Amino acid sequence: MTKTTFFTAVILSLGLVAGQAADKVHFEDADFSREGWSDFTEIPGTGGWEVKRRDLGGLVQGMVQEISIEGSGGIFLSAGRGSYASVFRSEGVIYAVRFRDGERSLVGQADVADTVSLRLGFDGAFFIYEYRSGDEWSRLGKSDIIGVVSYTGGISSPNRASDMSGYRIVELESLKGVRFGYTNTPKIPGTPWVVHDPFRPQPHQIHPGTVAPSDVPGTPPSDAIVLFDGTNLDAWEDGKGNSPKWTLGDGYFECGKKSGTIRTKQKFGSVQLHIEWASPSEVKGSSQGRGNSGVFLAGIYELQVQDNYDNLTYPDGQASSLYGFRPPRVNASRPPGVWQSYDIIFEIPEFADGKVVKKARITVLHNGVLTQHGVEIPGILGHKKTRPYRVHGPGHIQLQDHGNPVRYRNVWIRELKPIQ
Ligand code: MG
Repeated sequence: MTKTTFFTAVILSLGLVAGQAADKVHFEDADFSREGWSDFTEIPGTGGWEVKRRDLGGLVQGMVQEISIEGSGGIFLSAGRGSYASVFRSEGVIYAVRFRDGERSLVGQADVADTVSLRLGFDGAFFIYEYRSGDEWSRLGKSDIIGVVSYTGGISSPNRASDMSGYRIVELESLKGVRFGYTNTPKIPGTPWVVHDPFRPQPHQIHPGTVAPSDVPGTPPSDAIVLFDGTNLDAWEDGKGNSPKWTLGDGYFECGKKSGTIRTKQKFGSVQLHIEWASPSEVKGSSQGRGNSGVFLAGIYELQVQDNYDNLTYPDGQASSLYGFRPPRVNASRPPGVWQSYDIIFEIPEFADGKVVKKARITVLHNGVLTQHGVEIPGILGHKKTRPYRVHGPGHIQLQDHGNPVRYRNVWIRELKPIQ
């Protein structure tokens, strides 16, 4: 028989057995190490399954494990790196458990006799634990993200298999969420992280105070090129040089349905750029699907615009991140619908003989709070990839259409010319 990973849930806590509010559950013989898995394989003649790694290349949202059991046993879903969620029955009681940073905690429990089905999945923000005794699925509990799921686990040991049946992985539409991160992307040069690494530490969310912007947009410096003064989109065009399809509102402009990415008519090199933006006040979606847009410097390097007020996403893809490369130092986001500002100092890269001799450099203040400080950009930024520099000169400032009605106002720019 192939080597199996045994999974035996043993309740050690007397309080838990007695039905009190204890929160520790102990697993014996559990191997949840990342190396322990590859695929699920049925073990011939036992009805059991070998638990191996199943690399889904990212998240397992909407992917749900189900089993039916008569006695004891359960399933787990691993987040890798020592984190997992589990739902199982022992001694007639179903337990939903989360594990993180060496701590196991009880999420929910219920007494259920006879045959019961257990279901465990991930919806993009929470692990969902459900059981069914009869026709209806009931929610046993949900727990916060314990790391981000890259791999599913499964059933455990053949000695539990006699009580179990119907193990399957199903796609549950109701749990389908938005991707939270990726594990199958290339490494970001100069960092230990991969592009959109879900395990990268999250920037702390702070209150940005009232440094900037104010309720009423200010006035630009006298030597600035005004790109939007609240009245017209004359400085902008669509990707083909035609009039932009974004909607002009009262002092702002807004990305509409399929209105396309827009850009400044003029090209710029090194600049100081001030731009104010607001996420949709009606919150829809999560992670990358919420209030997503972006400011592209030289038309290439994206400073992410996104609603990350109490909205987790992968750190290198949140508001004020250099998308796919560098999270902000802090998350200085304001609530949805409230005006926010970026003050950006961007130095264009320099090239000689087809090679980069001075990399692009960027400093960003988000709502007056420093989020990127003289950061050297390692190459061209993008979704799920890293690319080396290609020779380019000044480019359009682009605003991204990512399908969300993000608003902009008070946009001005100052070209950074060498000091004599
Ligand atoms: Mg974007």
